[in-house]
Amino acid sequence: MLDKRPATIAPGATGTLSSGGRTAAVISIPDGRNVAFFGYRTSHARPGEDVTTELQRVYGDLGWVVPEALDGLQRADSVYFDTISQVVAASWSKGRVVLLGDAAWCVTLFAGYGSSLAVGGADCLGIELAAHPGDIPAALAAWEAAIRPEAERKQKLGRRVKGVYAPTSPLLLWLSLLPLRLASLPPVRRYMTRRFIKG
Ligand SMILES: Cc1cc2nc3c(=O)[nH]c(=O)nc-3n(C[C@H](O)[C@H](O)[C@H](O)COP(=O)(O)OP(=O)(O)OC[C@H]3O[C@@H](n4cnc5c(N)ncnc54)[C@H](O)[C@@H]3O)c2cc1C
Repeated sequence: MLDKRPATIAPGATGTLSSGGRTAAVISIPDGRNVAFFGYRTSHARPGEDVTTELQRVYGDLGWVVPEALDGLQRADSVYFDTISQVVAASWSKGRVVLLGDAAWCVTLFAGYGSSLAVGGADCLGIELAAHPGDIPAALAAWEAAIRPEAERKQKLGRRVKGVYAPTSPLLLWLSLLPLRLASLPPVRRYMTRRFIKG
């Protein structure tokens, strides 16, 4: 969380910069606060390095919002830092022990839907337990059969999207930005406004 909005980001706007397998973004959240988000490939990482030093080393050569975001990092109350990884488990239960949500199928933030799957998965588990009174193995089998296809689809989506999130190739970067460039063309903008806002 940044204590102040970078000067080049308009209130309510979000700015993203991507270069050489690194992405930095400043995202406005509803109550007027701003969050800095850094995502980069593990090839840039040095195990054991502290977060601030690593981010300075990886992003130090970039301009625009990045210097202010890095500066804000020094004063941030809390910093969340993690690797992005998927959990792929052949089974989500053993006896009466059940894995749910990210612990079972973490789809990653590349896919989105992680929160919905966690809440929906828990709800479905309750439904199946109620539908199979006294038969936990049958309830767990029905629950897994109901959730697994969607969880696996979203995991696949996450693996597909990760390549375009912080692309190393300039061509892939250009292609990933193409929808945004097209959206700025008046006919496309008019179509999207009709389709998504007025529809
Ligand atoms: C940066 C980021 C952005 C994301 N953006 C989105 C998004 O836009 N949309 C979306 O749908 N999903 C998003 N996700 C994914 C989403 O947050 C997760 O999929 C979701 O929170 C999973 O819910 P969960 O209940 O399985 O796990 P969690 O929300 O991780 O909850 C697990 C809880 O267990 C606690 N815990 C861990 N160990 C112990 C222990 N030993 N004892 C007691 N408690 C413990 C943890 O502190 C935590 O509170 C994002 C994730 C990240 C990291």
